[in-house]
Amino acid sequence: MRYTEHLVLSGIVNGAFLFILYMNFHVDIFRAELIVPLVGTFYIFSILPDIDHSKSHASGILNLFLVCIFCFSAFNFYRTFNPLDLAKIIIATTIFIVHVKYSENSRLHRKFPHTFTFGIVACLLLYLLANSILVCMVGAISFFTHILSDGYVMRAIEKDRTLWRLAGSRITAIKNRISKRKGF
Ligand SMILES: [Zn+2]
Repeated sequence: MRYTEHLVLSGIVNGAFLFILYMNFHVDIFRAELIVPLVGTFYIFSILPDIDHSKSHASGILNLFLVCIFCFSAFNFYRTFNPLDLAKIIIATTIFIVHVKYSENSRLHRKFPHTFTFGIVACLLLYLLANSILVCMVGAISFFTHILSDGYVMRAIEKDRTLWRLAGSRITAIKNRISKRKGF
């Protein structure tokens, strides 16, 4: 599915959700401090899972964002020699390299970003950033609509199960190793 189709579908669902809130609960969604993060979240989270595809719109936005951070930080570092700018350059470059290696330009691109575990982590980070339950809910709706319109809900749940089973067995193995070392 193309990113524009994801945006249209997610726009309809989010529009209906916000309309219900506006009409029934009188939530003033048109306040500038709310509408800007709401629209930004809707846009990013509707296309976010396709970050695992190297030629997707989401990857394009990420690369543009990283190039901007790199250029601004390099310019600031040249002027002030602030080590914080150097750290930003290193972080932006590292994310760029990791993304290039991780993302794929193929039909089999759907990886961890196409799981609900990734969606939950992304929504938690969003909550820390925006500090708003409503923005977080729009993020969750947008993410879920993407997975749904990909026809990937069951596969995503399967992947989540495998992931959590793996995490569970790793934790048990670590616990066993610790208790063996302590001589229990
Ligand atoms: Zn997708």
